[in-house]
Amino acid sequence: MDLTWSESEEAFRAEARAWLAQALPAWRDRHGGRPLSGDTAEGFAQHLDWERTLFDAGWAVVSWPVEHGGRGASRWEWLVFEEEYHAAGAPPRVTQNGIFLLAPTVFAFGTPEQQAHVLRRMARGDDRWCQGWSEPDAGSDLASLTSRARRDDERGGWVLEGRKTWTTRGAFCTHLFGLFRSEPGSERHRGLTYLMVPLGLDGVTVRGFGRLDGDEGFAEVTFDGAFLPDDSLPGGPVLGEVGAGWSVAMATTSSERGLTLRSPGRFTATAARLVDLYRQRRDEGRDLDPGLRDRVTQGWMEAEAYRLQTLQTVTDDAEGRPAGAASSFVKIWWSELDVALHETALDILGPDAELDGPWSKGWQFALSGPIYAGTNEIQRNIAAERVLGLPRR
Ligand SMILES: Cc1cc2nc3c(=O)[nH]c(=O)nc-3n(C[C@H](O)[C@H](O)[C@H](O)COP(=O)(O)OP(=O)(O)OC[C@H]3O[C@@H](n4cnc5c(N)ncnc54)[C@H](O)[C@@H]3O)c2cc1C
Repeated sequence: MDLTWSESEEAFRAEARAWLAQALPAWRDRHGGRPLSGDTAEGFAQHLDWERTLFDAGWAVVSWPVEHGGRGASRWEWLVFEEEYHAAGAPPRVTQNGIFLLAPTVFAFGTPEQQAHVLRRMARGDDRWCQGWSEPDAGSDLASLTSRARRDDERGGWVLEGRKTWTTRGAFCTHLFGLFRSEPGSERHRGLTYLMVPLGLDGVTVRGFGRLDGDEGFAEVTFDGAFLPDDSLPGGPVLGEVGAGWSVAMATTSSERGLTLRSPGRFTATAARLVDLYRQRRDEGRDLDPGLRDRVTQGWMEAEAYRLQTLQTVTDDAEGRPAGAASSFVKIWWSELDVALHETALDILGPDAELDGPWSKGWQFALSGPIYAGTNEIQRNIAAERVLGLPRR
């Protein structure tokens, strides 16, 4: 693996950096300098305004083909952009469940008609997608889900029943992608269909509810005989084959745990801020526990190591080696690293850490990393059985 960026990659970096330097402050100024959290209704609208700015300037989905709203950048250039994006302190992407999770699955399984319709609208923020996997009794054991899709050939569509929960930003979204049991009497991974569902259908109720950090970022979505017509979107609402939804969904979860959801730029930027925080407190002459310096160094090294690992993953991908179950390790890594970086910052700040300060807020969100995208206990099971070949208990 050659770690030298090419001239064109360096030019790409310079272009991204220059654009962010002028566009970000202008956007912040539009919102009084300090935008709200994207997990509140008002903050979501503000963030969407930023996503439109990104799209109009061609930075919303850099690695997508031009016809779908991207700029055809390579995976390496995407990583360069992500590094610049996070280093600039740009806001989290509120459309991320669409662009980082659904989109790779639409590229892999969607028909040309579905791709033409779904992708560009998603990239522009016209349609906002949330992920409908979890149900009240189907979290870690996703295959036990009970939401149903019954075929209605007479009307030409599907009748939906059931309940999805923990749906991130569901209350602010327009569409949901999720798994539904479409073969009556089928069990576990069989007989499931992956559907793309507009949330405005009659019989769909979306109820937002709060998170630990106080933001109202979750929703519960209830389907009560909602009719989903085959022409609800061009190419139809089924992604992949009817009844084969499990394998389509596994492609989505592999994107979630693997490369796309948490690019290393996020953690290298946090680590850099942590180093700055440590230096600032030290220079102020604060009495800092000597162990903190080691923890800062360790966090910074791990973020760099995660970056190198990601470059290796991109190289593997380019050379046709799939990430597969190894993405389970990656998910454990970034989520635990994020908690460690934030905990170290809070220990440096001590009593000065404000409950709604950036490090405290970041820490509260980091705590959910070992839970979402498949809990780390489950990821450790997968890694033990499928990667290390340890016996199943
Ligand atoms: C911030 C956040 C955002 C989320 N966003 C979404 C979203 O957008 N869409 C969506 O569908 N879901 C979302 N989720 C839900 C998330 O995917 C689930 O919380 C997760 O899969 C765990 O399911 P559960 O909450 O039902 O816990 P459970 O499955 O009940 O697990 C409880 C505990 O038991 C452990 N456990 C369970 N089974 C085993 C086992 N076999 N071996 C060892 N340990 C086990 C788990 O690891 C966990 O610690 C989100 C969650 C969070 C925290």
